[in-house]
Amino acid sequence: MCGIIGYIGDRSLKEVLYNGLVKLEYRGYDSAGISVLSSEQNDNKIATFKATGKLHHLGEKIKNEKIIGHLGIGHTRWATHGVPSTVNSHPHNSSDNSISIVHNGIIENHAELRASLTQKGYKFLSATDTEVIVHLLDDNYTGDLAETLRKILPLLEGTYALACISVKEPDVLVCARKGSPLVVGLGKGENENKENFIASDVSAILEYTDQVIFLDDNEVVAIKKDQVKVWDENHNLKTIAPTTIEWTLETAEKGGYAHFTLKEIHEQPKVISDTLKGKIKGNSAVIDEINLSQEELENISKIHIVACGTSYHAGLTGKYIIESELRIPVEVDVASEFRYNNPIISSTDLVILISQSGETADTLAGLREAKKAGAKTIGIINVMGSNISREADGTIYTNAGLEVGVASTKAFTAQLIALYILTLFLGEKKASISEERRAYMIENLQKLPKMAEEILKMESTIAEKVSIFDGAISSIFIGRNINTAIACEGSLKLKEISYIHAEAYPSGELKHGSLALISDVCPLVAIATKSSTYDKVKSNIEEVKARGGKIITLATVGDKEIANISGEVIYVPEIDELFSPIVNVIPMQILAYYTATSRDLDVDKPRNLAKSVTVE
Ligand code: GLU
Repeated sequence: MCGIIGYIGDRSLKEVLYNGLVKLEYRGYDSAGISVLSSEQNDNKIATFKATGKLHHLGEKIKNEKIIGHLGIGHTRWATHGVPSTVNSHPHNSSDNSISIVHNGIIENHAELRASLTQKGYKFLSATDTEVIVHLLDDNYTGDLAETLRKILPLLEGTYALACISVKEPDVLVCARKGSPLVVGLGKGENENKENFIASDVSAILEYTDQVIFLDDNEVVAIKKDQVKVWDENHNLKTIAPTTIEWTLETAEKGGYAHFTLKEIHEQPKVISDTLKGKIKGNSAVIDEINLSQEELENISKIHIVACGTSYHAGLTGKYIIESELRIPVEVDVASEFRYNNPIISSTDLVILISQSGETADTLAGLREAKKAGAKTIGIINVMGSNISREADGTIYTNAGLEVGVASTKAFTAQLIALYILTLFLGEKKASISEERRAYMIENLQKLPKMAEEILKMESTIAEKVSIFDGAISSIFIGRNINTAIACEGSLKLKEISYIHAEAYPSGELKHGSLALISDVCPLVAIATKSSTYDKVKSNIEEVKARGGKIITLATVGDKEIANISGEVIYVPEIDELFSPIVNVIPMQILAYYTATSRDLDVDKPRNLAKSVTVE
């Protein structure tokens, strides 16, 4: 995820681009840059300014620059390919500096394109996937930038929102999108000063216009001061009626959702496919960022997973996935304990570190402990270039984009996807998962984005069921097998944002103590989707029902029986138990979210908590 802004018109370019990036900084903040078509001496040159780190570094850099011009693009980056650095930050320019582009998304076939462009003599400056696009534009330039872009788009596999400018066409801003958002803002054109904008979301341009065109996938647009031309994927010109935006600025930043947490819950179908993207080729998982030899991978005989909080629950889920598929023992440790527990680690052990930020202090310390013992290390990390990703022997990036809500939602599902990918990868390297089984697993993984969408459509039905927590002071979550971990994550979400105490257990444990807590103020949340232990969970629910407990159950669509024993039921689509955690955790997140909002709580910033815990 990153933010794109573009402008053509007579306002101060520096102001429009920089202010737009300020609004978009929530989308990525590891580096930023702008390119402007400078016409100081009427000689049309592209001037590019970039800086790493937070946006204000760019602000300081351009503060005293005299930027004169009427056309420019800007970008605030969330690196996916190539560490955050000045050279990798956007915009990227053609070698002769005649074309400049910004990109949001991932070009999956960048390696192939890079190889063929290199053969043609193109020199690459950055490690990004994006740079191939600017060289392709240069290589195919027809004298018409919009036409050239339409020509090269079929060569790009993956997702993109793109904006480009060229010194040869100083009156046009050319853009395209597929899978990443982009809106065109229609300037008001007062006093004949015509102008137009583009941005990743309306928050960046709302102060100038409320008239926007939402672009659809595969559309290309050429924007002049006083004209907007849109082509569909068959290269036919089309007319799109503008939409009037009635949002306040704050609503716009949250994409129209009441909270970032809800927005992030809704981003999960895309996050799942983005995390899979480029990492599945045929029946294989491909992870580019693993620097371990075939022999080292083959020799792995034990796995430790080290993480905190929600990432720890991803680790618990990972244990089930890895042990069932690879038959290698897996130990999951809370990172703050691992480092002080004198862990038994050998050089043939693999230690997996899971952290959204890649900076979690305890997890980082766990990584260093593991390295000291000579173990191999792999991070599952969302932030490129973070400490854990730099120090581990390998990293699987989760591509969840920036997560603003303190309670992790989309980063969790992305971590689960990364664990399936790692299992597939190790299973092939160690020849312990057959090709047929890998094909089956991949087929199931690919069903998940659609299923996540289906669950999100039930949001309002789930929201109605939160009355089960009316007056609750505590709650118990149960699951079994792989879904015990999801019961743990569901209970953590509820605790974090609704402040209702919650505990989670494997359902068989209930009668060994916690059943005593069940009462009017302590409801039960049960995960009873179709699984090898379905009947057992059902019996545990019956035990609670017999004692008059309030129950809400997550069940597989079509399961009528469960409605007879559970007061409330949330139905989810059917999938193999191994992949059910993704399907089951989303309703848990929605349940926690609406319980918190029903109590009027600040969901995005729960009391006492911080997003990245970089202290011990
Ligand atoms: N893939 C591009 C990069 O790593 C764009 C990332 C983004 O969308 O933030 O630079």
